[in-house]
Amino acid sequence: MLTPDVLNLVLAGALALAVLLGLVAGFRARRKHHREQTHFFQVLDAVGLGILILRADGTIQYTNGLASDILRRPDSQILGKPFHRLLHEEANVDQPGAPCAFADAIRQHQPFRGHERFVDGNGRTVPVSVTGMPLGADTQSAVIAFRDRSNEIAQGREREEAFAFISHEVRSPLTALVGYSGRLQAAVASGALDVGSQYAEEITILAREAQRMREIILLILDMAEVESGRLEVEAEPIRMSRLVQDEIARLERDRPAARFTFEGDEVVVESDERYVRRIVQNLLDNAAKYGGDAKAVEVALSEDADGGCRVTVRDHGAGIPFDAQPRIFERFYRHASASTHGRGLGLGLYLSRRLATRLGGRLTFTSTPGDGASFLLTLPDVYPENQARATSDQAGSESGHSQPMQV
Ligand code: ADP
Repeated sequence: MLTPDVLNLVLAGALALAVLLGLVAGFRARRKHHREQTHFFQVLDAVGLGILILRADGTIQYTNGLASDILRRPDSQILGKPFHRLLHEEANVDQPGAPCAFADAIRQHQPFRGHERFVDGNGRTVPVSVTGMPLGADTQSAVIAFRDRSNEIAQGREREEAFAFISHEVRSPLTALVGYSGRLQAAVASGALDVGSQYAEEITILAREAQRMREIILLILDMAEVESGRLEVEAEPIRMSRLVQDEIARLERDRPAARFTFEGDEVVVESDERYVRRIVQNLLDNAAKYGGDAKAVEVALSEDADGGCRVTVRDHGAGIPFDAQPRIFERFYRHASASTHGRGLGLGLYLSRRLATRLGGRLTFTSTPGDGASFLLTLPDVYPENQARATSDQAGSESGHSQPMQV
């Protein structure tokens, strides 16, 4: 029979055991949590990004080693600080209180991705690529991940300088090579120079390959300009009908088998002639290359409702297979069947579309496999940046004072 004392003792023992088990479980859970947290932070350090974790009030709760390195501040100068003050406002780069898209996004619980300039502990500006992800719906709690772009920018600048130098150095010998080999070929063809049949053939090959090399190098130089994002547009009035017909005549000279028909209005647009020529050339080249011999390529030019122009190049070749259609504007893309039609780099359409977009226009196509392809280039009547400048100048003169250019 259990006496009350023994019963109390048993109950107390059971309670103590439960408390002990609870403590052990709690301890294990905390240790597991701590282990997981440590792993998590190790992963963050390993991904090569500076990481800051913000509390609900926007102060910094966690920084990894790389963030401290990039910001050149010990953890003690980072933890607990309001993120925007630490990253931006202590610097001269941004006026305190100036609008900041990055800080606004964090405060409005929106994701942010872009390039920013942070300030390190020595007061120097650090260009960074940064992503901010909100963690809570109504707070500033967020993860900020960033990468130092200083080396990348310095290397990019070196590359650009080297490229500008090489491009300048390459253009002059190339022009001489194409010019003189073309003259030699013309002299042989007209009988003004008699070099015998074998040399005559070699001179023809020399002139053709020099011309091709020039085209490839100019294409690569244009590509590099487009990719650098610093493409200079010099817009001037272009008589489109003349430009298109010039290019048709050039191709008919270079490819005697190619046949074109042209139909068009006289349309004048304000754009960059060099780039418009490059797009038209590419469309005509492709139509001649992939269009087959059965029917002539039809080229049409018309004015659109807003005074811009539409250039259509329609061929009657094999067309573009459905599997290739989503990809033909990709860089270096060539459909497997393309090589049977001649040489190419798979850059023409990529570059043409980028140029068309840069000029405020569009480049699109339709194609039914087996029934050729039709490419459409549209260009606005005035290059948009010139239009914006004209509007802004007009606003300035109407209000009686000049205004900065709005682009
Ligand atoms: P390239 O002609 O040097 O290969 P492009 O960028 O001009 O490069 O064209 C990309 C690919 O699109 C071509 O390889 C070809 O497969 C396809 N393509 C372009 N124009 C035509 C066309 N008119 N008809 C059929 N296929 C075309």
